[in-house]
Amino acid sequence: MDYPDLAIHNNLMAKHLTPRMYGKLRDINTKSGFSLDKAIQTGVDNPGHPFISTVGIVAGDEESYEVFADLFDPIIEERHNGFRKSDMHKTDLSYSKLQGGILDDKYVLSSRVRTGRSIRGFALPPHCSRGERREVEKIVNGALQGLKGELAGRYYPLNGMSEADQNQLIEDHFLFDKPVSPLLTCAGMARDWPDARGIFHNTNKNFLVWINEEDHTRIISMEKGGNMKKVFQRFCEGLNEVERLIKKEGYQYMWNQHLGYILTCPSNLGTGLRAGVHVKLPYLAKNKRFDEILGKLKLQKRGTGGVDTAAVGSIFDISNSDRLGVSEVELVQLVVDGVNRLIKIEKRLEKNQRFDDLVPSS
Ligand code: ADP
Ligand code: MG
Repeated sequence: MDYPDLAIHNNLMAKHLTPRMYGKLRDINTKSGFSLDKAIQTGVDNPGHPFISTVGIVAGDEESYEVFADLFDPIIEERHNGFRKSDMHKTDLSYSKLQGGILDDKYVLSSRVRTGRSIRGFALPPHCSRGERREVEKIVNGALQGLKGELAGRYYPLNGMSEADQNQLIEDHFLFDKPVSPLLTCAGMARDWPDARGIFHNTNKNFLVWINEEDHTRIISMEKGGNMKKVFQRFCEGLNEVERLIKKEGYQYMWNQHLGYILTCPSNLGTGLRAGVHVKLPYLAKNKRFDEILGKLKLQKRGTGGVDTAAVGSIFDISNSDRLGVSEVELVQLVVDGVNRLIKIEKRLEKNQRFDDLVPSS
């Protein structure tokens, strides 16, 4: 009787949830009290998304991925290119292995690498209590005070930040959007906003940590221009340092060998890594093969204002679409090679030349 109406839905949850599975899982709760109904609500309320293909389900705690595995497993397998239950994830932050990485500044406006990390023992943003959220903020903020040198900076809680400062940080692409995304609000992640949310950044604003948006933490390295090599190096060094400081405080990240780092959205499992550029591609933007080429390069496009925005004109946010079963270095390499190739195609189009030889076969 409670099975949701999924008739017009095209997210992965709707595709894989059967009435039988729903019946089996609907009365089971994780130890912290998260249920199947809470997990799927965002996918029930958002049949689809205009710009990205969504999974339609979130985790409320680390245990969710095991307790509701009947549903999560096929979704993870489809979202991450056939990653199976028996597959193991791998981590590799050796940034020196990256080949090349300096992208053409004439096309690339900015480069960015982000991931998320969750603190073990606390419910995730769709399900955490106010107290847990505040505790996570305190732990992470405390750890970040230990950052030194180029990484050293300050934490700016949203609560108490002026509207103008907040808007400026959003406009400059440093801060997450206000809770306008229906994906976020329907999943329960906007509860009590802006309580215990905030942003840490270093003096140069090229190393940033978001607290309690979609994940407990989002760790970001970014700068203007096309130097992805430098951005990735800072990302790896900063990430290692933050982990060391979190451990020093006596906490661990949610992690296992199969799924890698555990995050709220199944699309972010594994590395949690999204490496991307804001890139200007006016000719490709008008070419009907653009989406097909992106798919073959395993890349995804968004608008430059974030996941809920359409591209304005010919500037896109182009990033890796997969994050699980592949290491960090491999993913950044894929983005570097893919973006170089897109720029090559753009240059051919500028001269009205054929580019078929530059399109990968599969
Ligand atoms: P995320 O996957 O990190 O959550 P979103 O799509 O939600 O990314 O966007 C968050 C913010 O990050 C937005 O303001 C967006 O403009 C900014 N952003 C994303 N990629 C880049 C980039 N390559 N250069 C500059 N800003 C970026
Ligand atoms: Mg986001």
